[in-house]
Amino acid sequence: MSERIGFVGLGIMGQGMAANLLGAGFELTVWNRTITRMQDLVAQGAHAGASPADVAARSDIIITCVSDTPDVQAVLLGEQGVIHGARPGALVIDCSTISPQATRELAAALGEKGIHMLDAPVSGGSEGAAKGTLSIMVGGDGDQFARALPIFQAMGKTITHVGGHGAGQTVKLVNQVLVVGNCIAMCEALMFAQAGGVDLQKTYTAISQGAAGSWMFTNRAPQIMARDWRPGFTIDLQQKDLRLVLEAADELGVPVPVTSLVFQLYRTLQARGEGSEGNHALIKALEHLAGFEIAPKA
Ligand code: NAP
Repeated sequence: MSERIGFVGLGIMGQGMAANLLGAGFELTVWNRTITRMQDLVAQGAHAGASPADVAARSDIIITCVSDTPDVQAVLLGEQGVIHGARPGALVIDCSTISPQATRELAAALGEKGIHMLDAPVSGGSEGAAKGTLSIMVGGDGDQFARALPIFQAMGKTITHVGGHGAGQTVKLVNQVLVVGNCIAMCEALMFAQAGGVDLQKTYTAISQGAAGSWMFTNRAPQIMARDWRPGFTIDLQQKDLRLVLEAADELGVPVPVTSLVFQLYRTLQARGEGSEGNHALIKALEHLAGFEIAPKA
């Protein structure tokens, strides 16, 4: 008999991930702080939990996917938290993006009660969550990774066990350093092209397949040229992840100058009320500095 799954946190990501678990035939109990967000999954066959502790009492494996470090701490260790319902031998899988150090502390607190933990942050956005094509970076014990693999396979495509507790979160933050590094390079390049008077579309065609190309340039430069700021990933969420990078880098004593710069530039956009726009709207911060805007030739 396959293990019973609990799912806590049915936001943009959690909705799709939980639906894919149901689709793969797992018995699923869900809980979300805003109760109305549970309705769709319950209509599809999930059981409704009364609290994270109740979900844990009805499950062998409990997945969490909430916003930030204090939120994971609340749903795992809070008054109604998972720790109060889970049995020894249960496994907690945290798919949120949070602090690697806090993750190690959570794993230790759960471990004292005989509860296992894996950190398993994801990348691939809401589309990847809905389609079951997420990349999942997993930290924790190898035996627990093997136990959880069928669950990961129902939610994702590229599943990598990267090390012990916190290693999944660290690799996710590595991912974010690369994302914003590529993003600022793209934005600076487009501003330079605009100032140089060249046709932006022709510039894009000429260089996107070469050594200067990137996923970011291929997918987001056309959006910038169309001044389409709809988010694949919002500035607010990106900023939360950059804060985690800066905190971890400070603890580690490693300089991260580009990430620091991008964090400050995003701050200027948040101050203008633009935090819900896509992370490629970073170019607006450079436009404000330069005093001109990207405007492709008609
Ligand atoms: P979201 O749509 O904002 O959903 C957040 C979820 O967390 C909601 O279910 C919310 O409940 C719950 N929550 C937040 N604080 C809580 C608390 N203190 N107690 C209980 N529940 C709480 O966010 P999301 O986009 O699904 O992201 C979830 C996680 O995945 C984040 O760590 C994010 O960084 C990561 N992630 C997101 C993306 C993306 O493209 N969106 C991609 C990769 C990774 P309510 O419904 O009651 O507010």
